[in-house]
Amino acid sequence: MHKLPKLSERYIDPNTYPPGVAYMDGQYLTMDKASISVLDYGFLHSDATYDVVHVWKGAFFRLEDHLNRFFRGMDLLHMSIPYDKEQVTEILHNCVALSRLQNSYVEFICTRGTSPDFSRDPRNAINRFIAFAIPFGSVANQEQKERGLHIAITDTVRIPPPSVDPTIKNYHWLDLVKGLYTAYDQGAETALLLDSNGNIAEGPGFNIFATRDGVVSTPEFGVLRGITRQTIFDLCDAMHIKCVERDISPKELKEADEVFITSTAGGVMPVSKIDDMPIGEGSVGILSNRINEAYWQMHENAKNRIAINYPIINEVVD
Ligand code: PLP
Repeated sequence: MHKLPKLSERYIDPNTYPPGVAYMDGQYLTMDKASISVLDYGFLHSDATYDVVHVWKGAFFRLEDHLNRFFRGMDLLHMSIPYDKEQVTEILHNCVALSRLQNSYVEFICTRGTSPDFSRDPRNAINRFIAFAIPFGSVANQEQKERGLHIAITDTVRIPPPSVDPTIKNYHWLDLVKGLYTAYDQGAETALLLDSNGNIAEGPGFNIFATRDGVVSTPEFGVLRGITRQTIFDLCDAMHIKCVERDISPKELKEADEVFITSTAGGVMPVSKIDDMPIGEGSVGILSNRINEAYWQMHENAKNRIAINYPIINEVVD
């Protein structure tokens, strides 16, 4: 007789969904009700593009940049949605306002969608737009932010640009997940992948920066043009710190004075160990600290903020 699965951590309990609000098919929904067809090519083929913007202290940070990246990705993938940037802004805004989250991780996705007759020709598919706002999340937890992350440089090669353009934000994550398992096996907390020339590329959900003699460097080839990465260029410019895009070898990275990673999910996060070897003093570097402080300071600047109008009747949620 067929045995029922044991109730375990993997058993899906709808109550385990995070608080938040999603939008799909013209409706705002709680997270447990936001689901797509198993026939959606976003699910079957990872045929999708997406973006993630964050809301900090009740305001979007650099939303326009995220929208530009998302719409560019859709164009390059021959996808379209029935909304323009202004309408997407309204949908994202409403998801956050309805969720009442002051600090939120806001994801918006365009999948290839489904074909009514299951045609394998992607041109026949009806593209699907989904958005959701859930509590703000970070690549590094508080303890890791304070003492610096422990990273492993894995031998996994990031899917190369001629195969999948890394500047289009995508769900081709099997290389990144493979890297994570390799890193865990080595006792590290997250992973770095190589580009197809053997230089450092990026990690699961983040770009990487190294500093040497006061100069900040980040890989140029085979990486997502992160919005946080762009923010670092802008900050370094304002702080008169030289910041360059170039190839960085694994050896050079390990010999850096300081290393940090960047992501919308967490901002600027220091790295204190690579392959079990300390970086610099093995603690959070001075320059990394200065850049991190400037990053959060930038969130206070009105020109980077689009404030959320929360419903007045409800109190806000952290
Ligand atoms: N690289 C990859 C592969 C990512 O998935 C992400 C974010 O999810 C980043 C870099 C960082 O990009 P951003 O700063 O826009 O969040």
